[in-house]
Amino acid sequence: MLTDYHVHLRPDDYADPATAAERAFTAENAERYRTVASERGIDELGVSEHIYRFAQALDVWRHPFWREQAVDDLDAYSAFVRDETDLRLGIEADFVVGAEDRMATLLEAHDWDYVVGSVHFVRDEAVDHEDYDVWESARDPDAVWRRYFTLLGEAARSGMFDILAHPDLVKMWGERRPRPDGDLRRFYDLAMEGIAESGIAVEVSTAGLRKPVGEIYPARPFLEMCLDAGSPIALSSDAHVPDQLGYGYEQAMELLDDLGVRELSVFERRTRRMEPIG
Ligand SMILES: [Zn+2]
Ligand SMILES: [Zn+2]
Repeated sequence: MLTDYHVHLRPDDYADPATAAERAFTAENAERYRTVASERGIDELGVSEHIYRFAQALDVWRHPFWREQAVDDLDAYSAFVRDETDLRLGIEADFVVGAEDRMATLLEAHDWDYVVGSVHFVRDEAVDHEDYDVWESARDPDAVWRRYFTLLGEAARSGMFDILAHPDLVKMWGERRPRPDGDLRRFYDLAMEGIAESGIAVEVSTAGLRKPVGEIYPARPFLEMCLDAGSPIALSSDAHVPDQLGYGYEQAMELLDDLGVRELSVFERRTRRMEPIG
């Protein structure tokens, strides 16, 4: 069985965020995703909209980017997915240091099938967004990577999330930004204890193939370390439009097969089971 769980119905580039939800959260749009997924052999399909798109997220964090984005209603989104689609109901929630309790409270108020946990920000600066770019002030790539992977381990350990998203997102810009030299496992190590102890499912995301870095998240050595730690694996594309569903899955399957991964994580009401890839 193939999954695609880290999926957005709402593209990033709708010109007017205020009307985006009306266009994205419709049965017709969900059906477009379902159709493409079926064509690509993906039976387990879920959506995980960014939590910062929702007004309720401002109770958690008031970063300028969130204030600009938080226009949709979280209750309307979850009711829409449950009542008008046959998709699994997920959410992509950020790990925000100092806001763990508030985020946990918000997440607990809904009956998700799964929560995807992401580290997009290191303090107030983003690793994947040009407007709040961490690399504008950073001089030492080792310091950024150390901070990023430490946070990733804390995100896993927080217990708030079922799936750890795009685990080495910090590499997203590839050669367009500084990158530490040498064996990168010294950074991965900083996250491993949290990942191992939490039992969180580690996402293999093909989104990196569409980004400047041109690689799957996470790098193979990172994935090997997770497998050594006994982590379950989740597979997603982080699609933002139907055509990105299952993007690059052949390459992901090859990697998983090579590493002896035969099962994928499947979620229902925040309970995980393992299903053979097939
Ligand atoms: Zn993300
Ligand atoms: Zn995403």
